[in-house]
Amino acid sequence: MNSETTLTLSDLDSWDFSGTALAVLGHPIKHSLSPLMHNTALADLAVEDPRFATWQYFRFDVPPDDLPIALRTLHQKGFHGINLTVPHKVLAVNEVAEIAPAARSVGAVNTLRRNESGWSGFNTDGYGLATALEESVQRELTGAHVVLLGAGGAARGAAVECLHRGCASLWIANRTAKNLESLLDTLRPIAGDIPLHGFAPSEVPSDLPTDAIIVNATSAGLHEDDPTPIDLRGIARPTAVFDMIYNPSRTPLLREAEALDLPHANGLSMLVHQGAKALEIWSDIPASRTAPPMAAALAHPQSAA
Ligand code: NDP
Repeated sequence: MNSETTLTLSDLDSWDFSGTALAVLGHPIKHSLSPLMHNTALADLAVEDPRFATWQYFRFDVPPDDLPIALRTLHQKGFHGINLTVPHKVLAVNEVAEIAPAARSVGAVNTLRRNESGWSGFNTDGYGLATALEESVQRELTGAHVVLLGAGGAARGAAVECLHRGCASLWIANRTAKNLESLLDTLRPIAGDIPLHGFAPSEVPSDLPTDAIIVNATSAGLHEDDPTPIDLRGIARPTAVFDMIYNPSRTPLLREAEALDLPHANGLSMLVHQGAKALEIWSDIPASRTAPPMAAALAHPQSAA
């Protein structure tokens, strides 16, 4: 089985893998880059530590209704760790035996680690975002004014990370007002003294601070003809623009940032760092050790596969 093989629950009936098994569950899952990223990092670790030669990361297509049985069966079969992607991150919160406090605030888990009675849940997306911002545009969330675009799952994780890291202020823009209000309601108890504001992307507030980091957590940009989620020309002097989308690598928002000569980056490094943090949770190997081989796998997929 290589990183490209997609498994289903029925493959577990005759499961006889004797090494340390990890997996990503999603629906759809065929295009996930996580198996390539993790198996490249595990092969790299195995060169210096033979323990990792028996570790392998699999991909499973699991429809949402099957998530509870999938998690029970993977536990019975001895799987050590699991990543969850669309649409499982929120659903899994009710399926884990225990959950890290930060993941509970986000209301979503993307990483599970085996414990005796079931799974411990974590969320590494916020770490991935913060580390990617530091690496790709040299900006820290702590003390920064942040303009966050979107009010879905990714935006929620990003907003909680901004608040936990002590951003100077958080401004959230979303197309649908009711989704924005609902996100603001869940964030207010966490915000404390940090100013928290919402606005419609078409009506940028005149008192928006200068030098803000703009983070796109909407899906606007996944398709070539999508509109930009906000008109960057209406924002006074942003300090950097980060788009969580990594495919395509240059979204309309990033093209606009480039035209305005603003530091900018796509979401590839976020994908890498959330993955490296998950592997740290499973293996105790620091994320800083496995992030470089993961990034190399994504930069040169053919040679790593
Ligand atoms: P959700 O479906 O939960 O949320 C989608 C958000 O995008 C909503 O705020 C929605 O607004 C907004 N939106 C959708 N279409 C448009 C549009 N045409 N114009 C403006 N706003 C729009 O998705 P997620 O939060 O899970 O994911 C969002 C993005 O983040 C995806 O592109 C995903 O690939 C990326 N991502 C990247 C990661 C990485 O590691 N790099 C990790 C996680 C996510 P509304 O409320 O109005 O519907």
